Order: sequence, then C-alpha cells, then structure tokens
Amino acid sequence: NAIDYEKVDEHTKFLIFPISVIGCGKTTTSQTLVNLFPESWGHIQNDDITGKDKSQLMKKSLELLSKKEVKCVIVDRNNHQFRERQQLFDWLDELKEDYLAYDTNIKVIGVSFAPYDKLPEIKDITMRRVINRGNNHQSIKWDELGEKKVVGIMSGFLKRYQPVSLRRSPDNMFDLMVELDFGEVDSSLTNAKQILSEIHKAYPILIPEIPKDDEIDASFRKSLDYKPTVQKR
Ligand code: GDP
Ligand code: MG
Repeated sequence: NAIDYEKVDEHTKFLIFPISVIGCGKTTTSQTLVNLFPESWGHIQNDDITGKDKSQLMKKSLELLSKKEVKCVIVDRNNHQFRERQQLFDWLDELKEDYLAYDTNIKVIGVSFAPYDKLPEIKDITMRRVINRGNNHQSIKWDELGEKKVVGIMSGFLKRYQPVSLRRSPDNMFDLMVELDFGEVDSSLTNAKQILSEIHKAYPILIPEIPKDDEIDASFRKSLDYKPTVQKR
C-alpha cells in the first residue's frame, strides 16, 4: 500500500474517493463514518447533484472541506472507471485554490468496494439490495424504472468496471488505498471498521482513536435507515 507520511500535520485535509459499482454500500458506509465524526467529516453525494455542471460534486466537496472544523470529505460516486478517477483528480487540481488556501495540503484516500474476483457474488447481492432499497434512492427508483431497466443500469456498471490498478495512472495518485472485501452480512459495518483502522494507522492525525465497537454498531444501524433528501425525478 502506498502510504505517504510526508507533510501530514493538523492542517492537512483529506478527501475520500470510492471505487465501486451500484449497491456496494458506499452511501451506507459513508453515513456510518460521518455519523461518528459529525463535526469534522462530511459527505457529498453525486446522487444529490442536480443540474448540468457535474463538477459541482467537487465544488461542494471542497466548499465543505474549506470549513475550519472539517477535516475529511467523502466524495460519494462510483468512479468505476479510470476516466472518472482521473476526472476527480483533474477537478481537484483545477478547483482546489478557489476554495482552500494555496498551501493547503490535501491527501486523497481511495476506498475500493468491489474486489474483482468477487464480481459474480457482488452482482447477486447488490441486485437484491437494490430491489430492497426500492424507491429509497435519488434516481434509481424501482417502481418507475422496473426490473429490466434497473438490471440494465447495474449490469452496465459491472461490465465497464475497471478495478484499482495501483501501478498506473490515475490510481498511482492516491496517497492511501483501502481495499475492502465484500461480504453479504453487515458488509457496510465491516467496511467502516476496516476504513477506520487503516486510516488510523496511516493518518493518526485524522483518526487519533478508533471509536468503540458499540458506537460504530449504533452508527451503522442508523445508516441503514438513511433516506435521501434530494429527488431527481
Ligand atoms: P451505494 O449504491 O453503493 O451507495 O449503496 P447503498 O449504501 O445505497 O446500499 C444499497 C442498499 O443496501 C441500501 O438499501 C442499504 O440500506 C443496503 N445496505 C448497504 N449496506 C448494507 C449492509 O451492510 N447490510 C445490509 N443488510 N444492508 C445494507
Ligand atoms: Mg449511494
């Protein structure tokens, strides 16, 4: 793992970019983490961005990150292709100084949700989850789209998926990569715990102490009830 200990201090800010396909639990895992650090962590979802300007995802993330008390923002989008990861790094380069002091040190943490050798299981489980999620999503509404369209959208992501490849660009630009496993039961709880532990190890300045198990559990239960606030259709 590429761990970079340079120049990290109390002024360092962090962004988290997921690499995933639909239904792997990005939003549930993100909510679990953000509920644990409500003051210092933020969560911006691509699914909440309406309108044509797609870079609003990065603009809103940097706006949040520019607040004094905010140290880490999760930029919630699938980023299942190299092109999308590159786009996030490009936007960051381009927009950073509009929101943060020019000398602000930003570390970018990648979180890979979908191990390539587990894609068949991931396909089954995420499909079941998305059926269960039903209309409880900003744009993928089961009742409006129907099974065929939803399966089509999800299969498209799986087909185009380009897993993390740390030796090539853009994935070699991540300062830290957390590679999650994928299980069926409470995967977002397991994910949150692994992310906390690996960030604590690499960047204790961001997570000086891992929250207690019962706190993490409670935060996960709360996240399973997450309801989106933005509606796209
Ligand atoms: P995303 O598309 O990657 O953001 O996935 P979501 O976080 O929206 O998860 C998809 C669905 O699976 C949602 O209805 C979640 O409540 C549910 N889900 C996510 N993680 C878990 C988990 O660990 N256990 C269970 N039982 N359901 C989960
Ligand atoms: Mg989501």
